[in-house]
Amino acid sequence: MSEPPCHDGDGGPREACGLVGIFGHPRAAERVFYGLFALQHRGQESAGIAVRSSRGLTGHTGMGLACDIFTAAALAGLEGDAAIGHVRYSTTGSSNLRNAQPLLVDYARGQLAVGHNGNLVNAALLRKELEASGSIFQTTTDSEIIIQLMARPFNGSFEEVVANVMRRIQGAYSLAMLTPDALIGVRDPRGFRPLSLGSLDGAWILSSETCAFDLIGAQFIRDIEPGEIVVIDKRGPRSVRFGPAVRPARCIFEYVYFARPDSTIWGRTCHTVRKQLGRQLAAEHPAKADLVVAVPDSGSSAALGFSEASGIPFEFAYIRNHYVGRTFIAPSQVDRDLKVRVKLNVMPAVVKDKRMVIVDDSIIRGTTTLGRIAELKRAGAREVHMRVSSPPTRFPCFYGVDFPSPDQLVAARMPISDIQRFLRADSLGYLSLEGMTAACGGGDGFCRACYDGVYPIPPEELVAKECMERQRSDAVQAPALPAGPDGKAARTPRRGNPVRPSFSTQPREQR
Ligand code: SF4
Repeated sequence: MSEPPCHDGDGGPREACGLVGIFGHPRAAERVFYGLFALQHRGQESAGIAVRSSRGLTGHTGMGLACDIFTAAALAGLEGDAAIGHVRYSTTGSSNLRNAQPLLVDYARGQLAVGHNGNLVNAALLRKELEASGSIFQTTTDSEIIIQLMARPFNGSFEEVVANVMRRIQGAYSLAMLTPDALIGVRDPRGFRPLSLGSLDGAWILSSETCAFDLIGAQFIRDIEPGEIVVIDKRGPRSVRFGPAVRPARCIFEYVYFARPDSTIWGRTCHTVRKQLGRQLAAEHPAKADLVVAVPDSGSSAALGFSEASGIPFEFAYIRNHYVGRTFIAPSQVDRDLKVRVKLNVMPAVVKDKRMVIVDDSIIRGTTTLGRIAELKRAGAREVHMRVSSPPTRFPCFYGVDFPSPDQLVAARMPISDIQRFLRADSLGYLSLEGMTAACGGGDGFCRACYDGVYPIPPEELVAKECMERQRSDAVQAPALPAGPDGKAARTPRRGNPVRPSFSTQPREQR
């Protein structure tokens, strides 16, 4: 699967969001802006910054990319010494300006800005409950539930209020919050999504990924722990735990695909992990070939690892067009092959008469991979052996990744032998679940539900991206999930009234 391009608005599964926060820097909003720039791959639909100044909290949000929203004039209006920023891809609630984050409110305790990465699995039930007791929602995001719960009467310090709210919500959430007094970072008890703490010239920084620290010259200090609230104010950071330790469920897909290769997530640099995935893949699925090539850019690290382990030379077979703007609209009659070639072009001089191994991180719908293999063959490749540096993606994600529905996941619809025939590949090999886990450091502290259908937190309801818009409509029975590798149906626990599943049913790029 090629990496989601910055400007063209299509691509495969999308991350729910990226977060940056800074406390104690005279140009806080500007630093946050650069941090968002580094995290743009985590969300391209909207972006926002909230800043603290002597006037209290103010903010600016917009639709599109951070670089388009935060002009010099917009940044000049965001003076202050503490700020949080957010880039969004919508996984709950529509993509519109009202849902752009950080959400900024005035409430009984003062002002509060919240940015959220992840998905709450009990969002629909909580919203129903809150509305029944008088809450009026301004957005259709699950993130606003956190604000509504913060506003409920509760006797205690600010930390105790936050901890109390965190005990009510369930699911995946890394949060950056800002008040007139403090910057707050939170990770859910299972730690699905990353969030790290850093420092810069005496200021404190939070970021979803360390690549943002690198860009703004900050030093990485440590990860925020699962189940930890870090409150940073003029006295510095202090830590609060809000629940008993539970088994972590870090999203393994961050390593496979989402996080930038130069980010260090949970102690490991993604490029290094991806190379190890490629080495493991070569051991599990060797091929007799002349060249190893990558689908740029997401397959590159794994292809290098495959090449190193197999001794087969790595080559560049594709040239990427970096100028495909989001304004590019394929003419309605254009054939799919042409659409694929707009972004990546094969070099026949490299592939002609060669036996090729092509490495990618995932196959989602399969149609883009079909196009890539057809291109290589058209350019003269003698054999094309497809290798995938993760197991077959068979199940949807309820924790902040927007996969297509199971009936669009090629591995949920057919066995691997049929996928190979469908792709017209000379051979096809997926990395095993065990091999992927070992390459990512081993242990049982990962969520791998999109591969094995074992959900660390059963969703209270099968929550649709649009569920907040549909709160008042009749409940809709969700379709059954596909069978797992053992032939049994995946766990689909349903409490309350099921609404539609949390995966998008909107058409995306055919993959
Ligand atoms: Fe990550 Fe997959 Fe788990 Fe979602 S289901 S959190 S994408 S590993």
